[in-house]
Amino acid sequence: MDTVVSGIRPTGNLHLGNYFGAVRNFIKMQQDYNSFFFVADYHSLTTHPNPADLNTSVRQVLAEYLACGIDPEKCTLYIQSDVPETAELYLLLNMLAYVGELERSTSFKDKIRMHPDNVNAGLLTYPVLMAADIIIHRAHKVPVGKDQQQHLEMTRNFVNRFNHLYGVNYFPEPEAFNFSEELIKVPGLDGSGKMGKSAAEGNTIFLVDEPEAIRKKVMRAVTDTGPVEPNQPKSESIANIFTLMKLVSDSDTVEHFESSYNNCTIRYGDMKKQLAEDMIRFIAPIQQQIKKFFADTELLHTIVSHGAEKAKESAAITVNEVRKIIGIKKF
Ligand code: AMP
Repeated sequence: MDTVVSGIRPTGNLHLGNYFGAVRNFIKMQQDYNSFFFVADYHSLTTHPNPADLNTSVRQVLAEYLACGIDPEKCTLYIQSDVPETAELYLLLNMLAYVGELERSTSFKDKIRMHPDNVNAGLLTYPVLMAADIIIHRAHKVPVGKDQQQHLEMTRNFVNRFNHLYGVNYFPEPEAFNFSEELIKVPGLDGSGKMGKSAAEGNTIFLVDEPEAIRKKVMRAVTDTGPVEPNQPKSESIANIFTLMKLVSDSDTVEHFESSYNNCTIRYGDMKKQLAEDMIRFIAPIQQQIKKFFADTELLHTIVSHGAEKAKESAAITVNEVRKIIGIKKF
């Protein structure tokens, strides 16, 4: 059976980008794959979260995972830092990662641009830690959004380099995965770019957003002056609104607005109203469950303890084998 690994950083609440880019796939994959899903708390340290808040953020993401339908009976659900074998593999992989290739990573360049005052080495080696997360369970498939495609490519490079350098075929080459064939990028509401935790305020719809907040954000979404001739190609901001609608609305609704766009009768205000109501309807059942899970400390404790045990068992096998392969042996 193929193995699947993926994680999300506890740097804020989950949003529709996380849901459609990653979590929706986790829920489907846990049925048919040997699945490991984790809360990436080591990764979140690059932004120096307040120690008093870190645990709450981890708990929040856990509650959100469970509310979305991740079932700890069907997969291994764990906290990254409960499996320190990941940190050892990260150290070993760092010897195979070249500074030049890490510096070329698009997300590293973005981070430098956005936070020039905090260009720490953890940011540079972020893709190495991500590779360690994936190959610690010798994964074949990684459900991620399009924004992680380049990191996945780097993981494949490290795997090939390891296998080649040591003349083994130990690690499978993992591939990025989405059920809809193509990896997806959920756009933000500002007319360009992706929905994300660090995006500008108002750009991102979180799973915990109250209906009024969703209405406000969607009504402010960037549009254009409207089509002036039939079947006119869509501007980026309008294409983004259609992309969001396809995710949360039924196909009749999408078709209705497609045809009114094509015959130039579309009213963006009506479309955004409809989109907001469909987002609210989509999120409502998840939101109720988030509150329930967040409050159940005992259940969360049982789930992550059991998850840590299973993840450590799998990780220890890999780390022991890797130590042997690279020549670290007991006297
Ligand atoms: P992050 O929130 O950056 O830790 O990302 C966690 C997961 O959500 C990764 O698999 C990302 O690819 C995915 N993700 C985050 N934002 C988006 C987005 N706007 N569209 C698609 N996938 C996304």
